[in-house]
Amino acid sequence: MLTDNHGRRVNYLRLAVTDRCNLRCFYCMPEDGLHWLSRAELMSYEEMLRGCALLVKMGIEKIRITGGEPFVRKDIMKLLTGLSKLKGLKELSMTTNGVLTAPYVAEMKALGINSVNLSLDTLDADRFFTITRRDEFKNVMATLDELLKHNFTVKINAVVMDGKNTKDILPLVQLTKDLPVSVRFIEEMPFNGDGHIYQGLQWDYIRILDEITAHFPAIQKLEDPAYSTSYNYHIPGHKGNVGIIAAYSRTFCGSCNRIRITPQGTLKNCLYDDGVLNIKDLMRSGINDEQLEQTLLHAINQRAKDGREAEQLRVEKTGVHESMATIGG
Ligand code: SAM
Ligand code: SF4
Repeated sequence: MLTDNHGRRVNYLRLAVTDRCNLRCFYCMPEDGLHWLSRAELMSYEEMLRGCALLVKMGIEKIRITGGEPFVRKDIMKLLTGLSKLKGLKELSMTTNGVLTAPYVAEMKALGINSVNLSLDTLDADRFFTITRRDEFKNVMATLDELLKHNFTVKINAVVMDGKNTKDILPLVQLTKDLPVSVRFIEEMPFNGDGHIYQGLQWDYIRILDEITAHFPAIQKLEDPAYSTSYNYHIPGHKGNVGIIAAYSRTFCGSCNRIRITPQGTLKNCLYDDGVLNIKDLMRSGINDEQLEQTLLHAINQRAKDGREAEQLRVEKTGVHESMATIGG
């Protein structure tokens, strides 16, 4: 069992496989995109599989593939196939924007992937275009249909943005009436690659819940699973559930079980830290697995106690400038 210096179990890895994306969600990156990483700067699939195999041996039980948009990276199914064979890995899941995903759904299911987080901030095609700057709403909805057809556990992630999609909160909640999905509202964070000025948090988890409760007064609190980052609710008579993720307020750090690896191989102990070591560089310098394991253990034993402390300890003191696409969410 892998634990950190605060006695927290660490059993969940989020692996971002690319920084590239086919959408330009304004809360994530500038309209012109980012300075994309070159191929040489990216971890190769072989390096990812080596790192994941070692981390699974050390105690990681769940891996989520994210990005950028994972389906933009060539031959992503090769990586998923390799990961699906890792002994000791209990769960492999994905976060995707759904633009290119639908044709891969059956193959994903055959690999044993059962859970997908689909990012969808609005049910209105025009607002979708305003938020993502791309006309891909239909493809995302086709992915949602396909996932449900194949009985995936589907979580819909919606970032709540003042003046952009607060009108969508209630329709997205209403979606849980007939569909067995969990719609999770996420507080907006400043990771937008300096695409716009972050005005501070306008819609925190309390305001989001107040908005939902005002229109669905029968809403009931559910017991949150261990390590859950969302507060979970159910509306009687609905097939699905509703969650609220206090990503900026950071109310869940006390039970944080996750580490992250970015597309260029940086290990992040916390979403808000600026990276603790680079696994790809270590591998390319010829480190063996035993040395790499010791290095990883050492790093995981120096985790900040929470996201506030991690942010204060950043070397770069002028705040967060990265895009979420370089971290993976
Ligand atoms: N491209 C994929 C997608 O959008 O699902 C995976 C990567 S994306 C960076 C992962 C998650 O981060 C998405 O659910 C997205 O909504 C969320 N995200 C991106 N920027 C964010 C921000 N500034 N604040 C809160 N969540 C954000
Ligand atoms: Fe792309 Fe996901 Fe970022 Fe949107 S949130 S720009 S889909 S990486």
